[in-house]
Amino acid sequence: MAVLKVVKVGDEILRKKSRPVDKITPRIIQLLDDMKDTMHAYDGVGLAAVQVGVLRRIVLVETERGELLEMINPEIIATEGEQMDIEGCLSVPGKCGITTRPMTVTVRAMNRKGEIYEVTGSELKARAFCHEIDHLDGVLYIDHAKMLSQKELEELYEE
Ligand code: ZN
Repeated sequence: MAVLKVVKVGDEILRKKSRPVDKITPRIIQLLDDMKDTMHAYDGVGLAAVQVGVLRRIVLVETERGELLEMINPEIIATEGEQMDIEGCLSVPGKCGITTRPMTVTVRAMNRKGEIYEVTGSELKARAFCHEIDHLDGVLYIDHAKMLSQKELEELYEE
């Protein structure tokens, strides 16, 4: 088990574009395993490789525990509808904001065996797909969110 350090906003690496993975090497497999441990350690529902300092197009999404999606070179191939909800990021600790995202998102990606697959998710899962894939292009949700104030945050956690 290896929990990696999560890069925080302000670090320039978060603004860089990640490179595609052209070959699944033992290093990539190790990275996937370490990213999973890291995401679980921080209780996240998603994590992009750049958040652990690796500029590769790899994201994990696990909106329901035990349903881990490993996405290598993910691409959004279809979206439908719209949703507005609260979003946060492990790289932006202690903050939340409201963003508008598609209600349903279909992603095409590769798994660790090198197989291409497609997956469709709605609500939180669709939001996580968009959020994590944005990371691969240096985009953070705070770029387009209406951030919650300290008071709004406190009220949120009281619920
Ligand atoms: Zn994030």
